[in-house]
Amino acid sequence: MFRRSQLVLTATVAGLLCAALTAPPAQATPKPPSKDPVAVGTGGAVASVDPYATEIGLQVLRRGGNAVDAAIAAAAALGVTEPYSAGIGGGGFFVFYDAATGEVETIDGRETAPALMDEDAFVENGVPIPFAEAVTSGLSVGVPGTPATWALALDRWGSITLREALRPAAQLARRGFVVDETFRQQTEANAARFADFTSTRELFLPGGEPPEVGSVLRNRDLARTYGLLGHYGVDFLYDGRLAAEIVATVIDPPVAPGATRVVRPGLMRLPDLAAYQALFREPTQVAYRGLDVFGMAPPSSGGSTVGEALNILENFDLAGLDRVQALHRYLEATALAFADRNRYVGDPAYVDVPLAELLSQAFADERACLIAPTAAPKPVPPGSPDGVYVPCAPAAAVGSGATAAGSTTHLTTWDRWGNVVAYTLTIEQTGGSGIVVPDRGFLLNNELTDFNFTPTQGTAPDPNLPEPGKRPRSSMSPTIVLDEGQPVLALGSPGGSMIITTVLQTLLNRLDFGMTLPDAVAAPRASQRNTPTVSAEPAFIAQWGPALEALGHAFTSVPEIGAVTAIERQDDAGRLLAVAEPVRRGGGDAGVVEP
Ligand code: GLU
Repeated sequence: MFRRSQLVLTATVAGLLCAALTAPPAQATPKPPSKDPVAVGTGGAVASVDPYATEIGLQVLRRGGNAVDAAIAAAAALGVTEPYSAGIGGGGFFVFYDAATGEVETIDGRETAPALMDEDAFVENGVPIPFAEAVTSGLSVGVPGTPATWALALDRWGSITLREALRPAAQLARRGFVVDETFRQQTEANAARFADFTSTRELFLPGGEPPEVGSVLRNRDLARTYGLLGHYGVDFLYDGRLAAEIVATVIDPPVAPGATRVVRPGLMRLPDLAAYQALFREPTQVAYRGLDVFGMAPPSSGGSTVGEALNILENFDLAGLDRVQALHRYLEATALAFADRNRYVGDPAYVDVPLAELLSQAFADERACLIAPTAAPKPVPPGSPDGVYVPCAPAAAVGSGATAAGSTTHLTTWDRWGNVVAYTLTIEQTGGSGIVVPDRGFLLNNELTDFNFTPTQGTAPDPNLPEPGKRPRSSMSPTIVLDEGQPVLALGSPGGSMIITTVLQTLLNRLDFGMTLPDAVAAPRASQRNTPTVSAEPAFIAQWGPALEALGHAFTSVPEIGAVTAIERQDDAGRLLAVAEPVRRGGGDAGVVEP
């Protein structure tokens, strides 16, 4: 149904985007494209954290491309303007609703551990190495999955070539983008470690300093790299010259002379890159309030944990309850679902994940009866997803295994034919490993720090220990909701393990609490991941804290949780509502083809 269009995105997109940048009149301050967190219209839609990426996705749709084409082109643009969260040095999960077949399909583009990585990789002299040292190291770099994801998605569902999909982003990289407050802040936060790598400081600390807000940052190396990937295909990265350069960088990171940082070498070798495959996986699926919610299966814990929590909450009439009572159930449900996630979910090639049971309504019903009128002491123990369900077994505390938040980005696209993409991609921490591949313009991930460094207390056997070739457990939760087979909502978020609660809370806001999608996205967030305190935004604590504390919940304030993008179908005539964050992460950008 999609014609293989001759999509030649030459000067137009970048020309339009960068009109203010090319040959500006003397003293003129270049302006970034405008951002809008909400857009309504027809002909397709794109929502991302970044106006350049959204605009490039929309241009692809306008020129006849489909949702997959637009998603890859926009993701490539994020590699330019959000290089600390996304890019070809990382991985992600791609969820696709195919209007032609009515099926939801997914691609697992998760990074893998090298063959030399064993269970003790992050342990020295019997103790785990400091997390920060693991992050900024060659050791944490997993084999990137993003290039293979793009190639596989385009090959299977796209209507343009990889070269065509990368061209607008290459042009953006060449011409440059206007640095905004968020980019500046993220660079500042990373400046010390970026300065310790010659390649990274050259790219992201021009003149030795984080770039000024309003200045133009160009990445000609990345423009060339995209050009080479378009020309030679992703084998250039997995099996060609770039593979050798990645391995050389990981084994011997380009530490700046005089830097005193301990930078451990990596274990990745050429055969690890050559063996990498992005994988098609069956989506997870649960029914909730008469809708079908599809998500990402292991090695992401997103689909199973969001799904289990929804199944638990199906036991309660959240819409009919007082909001404090409803939020109490939300917090307790996610604690239970996280206990099960931590105990049972890992890379299914290495771990026997009881996925069908974790997603069964009967298991969730057993778990739901553990929700008491007041908060249970955390952490709560995992349940037994064994097919035999007895109600209300007593609780005993165990270790939590909740992971720290890193950085990531989610984008959502929807085309005029009704194809939908929810795509979350990451390089793990903001700035990944901090190591740019010299002269190639992109950061390498630190995704292998998503493994548990040592067995988590109370979760033996721990499903998320490092192993050769294994994919670390993720929390990424790209989600598509169908109503009688038709897509009605697609969404996702960054936020480490808080991704799961962010997606869930947005779903509850929209489906149970009757908020509009913009309100559902903007509403203050709280995240209970089976830890003694609930992480929550100040506005959530101000509004709901005292009433929930009276029920036994305790709060830890965190400035910001997640950064959702979402698109919702408004009617059968193809009217779409695209939504990005109004404030978090500096605000995102939503757009439609025909407003
Ligand atoms: N690496 C994390 C995961 O896969 C995502 C990091 C983040 O979103 O901050 O779960």
